[in-house]
Amino acid sequence: MTKLAVVEASTGPLGHGLPVGVGMALGSVLGSNRFNCYVLAGDGELQEGSNWEAAMFAAHRRLDNLVLIIDRNQLQHGGPTEEICSLGDIGAKMKSFGWFVKEVDGHDHQELRIAMSHAERCARPYCIIANTIKGKGVSFMEGRAEWHHRIPDTHELPLALSEIEAQQDA
Ligand SMILES: [Mg+2]
Repeated sequence: MTKLAVVEASTGPLGHGLPVGVGMALGSVLGSNRFNCYVLAGDGELQEGSNWEAAMFAAHRRLDNLVLIIDRNQLQHGGPTEEICSLGDIGAKMKSFGWFVKEVDGHDHQELRIAMSHAERCARPYCIIANTIKGKGVSFMEGRAEWHHRIPDTHELPLALSEIEAQQDA
């Protein structure tokens, strides 16, 4: 939030992002300043119960100006989400709370754009499950939980950048 003007709150793995977003979306509906609120959450973060309280309340108030994008990379700080505390079928859970759910390839910008556009016309809170691969495009980062918190060193950074640039050129 200190680097991008559109980011109102930077939260972390404690499950505060969605509750904050629900509060902002509700404030918009109650006030005269109508806006859409977008929350980006990690999948591991959904293990925090505050998310489910917020999801329940958002559906109860039919917050149609709220979009939750879940980065479903199946990994969290300590390893695979399904081994640490299984999230199971996130889509079925969100639907049962009353949300509209759309699952996309999180690396496909066109799929994301279509879902975001649909969300603007949907009369319910909208959940986009974006299936992703952590570290995609960098051979020594892909699918590895350690890159949840690691920073590339002076040797790794140019390697990573060269792999990404090679894909852009292809
Ligand atoms: Mg994750």
